[in-house]
Amino acid sequence: MRTDPTELDRGDPLAAYRDRFVGAETPLVYFDGNSLGRPLRVTGDRLKSFVEQEWGGRLIRGWDEGWLDLPARIGDDLGRICLGAGPGQTIVGDSTTVLLYKAMRTAVAARPGRTEIVVDRDNFPTDRYVAQGVADECGLSVRWIDVDTTAGVTAELLRAAVGEQTALVVLSHVAYRSAYLADVPALTRIAHDAGALVLWDLCHSAGSVPVHLDDWDVDLAVGCTYKYLNGGPGSPAFVYARKRLHDRLAQPIQGWMGHRDPFLMGPSYAPAPGIRRMLSGTPPIVGMLALQDMLALLEEAGIEAVRAKSVGLTDYAVEIAGELLVERGVTLASPRESARRGGHVALEHPLMREVTAALWERDVIPDYRDPHGLRIGLSPLSTSFAEVRRGLETVRDMLDALTG
Ligand SMILES: *Cc1c(COP(=O)(O)O)cnc(C)c1O
Repeated sequence: MRTDPTELDRGDPLAAYRDRFVGAETPLVYFDGNSLGRPLRVTGDRLKSFVEQEWGGRLIRGWDEGWLDLPARIGDDLGRICLGAGPGQTIVGDSTTVLLYKAMRTAVAARPGRTEIVVDRDNFPTDRYVAQGVADECGLSVRWIDVDTTAGVTAELLRAAVGEQTALVVLSHVAYRSAYLADVPALTRIAHDAGALVLWDLCHSAGSVPVHLDDWDVDLAVGCTYKYLNGGPGSPAFVYARKRLHDRLAQPIQGWMGHRDPFLMGPSYAPAPGIRRMLSGTPPIVGMLALQDMLALLEEAGIEAVRAKSVGLTDYAVEIAGELLVERGVTLASPRESARRGGHVALEHPLMREVTAALWERDVIPDYRDPHGLRIGLSPLSTSFAEVRRGLETVRDMLDALTG
């Protein structure tokens, strides 16, 4: 039995949102919205008016007229719309990598006497490299968790890795390779029971999978805004820190923007109260413009509805892979059960590197991840079911062409 994608699109309550994105009218198949989301059409107007009015017209007065507050204001919006975080706990700042560094250093400083940072071997490279760097710098060691690369960190694996030596556990909510969706509240509880803090990387969940940081009792979280939050290439990341930790947060890049009174220009550093102390230098205002349009759209659509469509899209991709690709030797490298799967689907075949190159030439744009993995990213508000069908039919055709 095959499902007709036109029927699925007709029954999709969010289908109309697709037209709000630049390029949606073209036949190109975009399977990489989980690496760089498409721009919204309204963002073009926002950028133009920013140059002409806010920047060009207000000039340096802009800092007093909203720019200085923008990191915290967007942080609160993010918290409310997609992170389940009350106000005053999220702020937009540097890149994900830099915020991971700041958050990890902050966390280990808050757990003196403990000697280990726990990370899984399949976590995103930057998370692993920064954890190792922080461990080296602070005289700690990394305890690595080995995971099944088609899945991720389970409660059992984490329980075996933590103990009274653990300062910090660093995990991703959605695994960048397999899309495995970690059980945040359960894993957070295990870290807490061992007396450790936990830092969640939300890069592949923010804007696609509902997050409930306050309810899940998360200590720290970091995520980027250019994937499912469509902030554009290099748009700044966000950091969340739970209110009860704020007084003890001592991050390592003590810049003037995280100072209690930046314009006092005083002789020594005194951290700002609250989440603002996670800032370091001048906020990247231009980089925060596009993100605001996507947040408005997500609020309009509702994150639960976005997740429902995301599950529909990934379920459909799994179904078509079963229908067209499995008999050609392709295997599913993501959880089959949607409750354990984020917003993308990984498919493996020995020829996937060559298939990916051939797809890009035909305007079908997925991602390739070693070893042999085709990553089908399905951005819920800009992807249609017909697009999924068309893209995976092209994967089949490319496989057939390459295997002759
Ligand atoms: C995309 C991604 C990053 C990116 O870090 P940058 O500093 O923005 O390059 C980090 N962690 C994870 C899990 C990611 O998916």
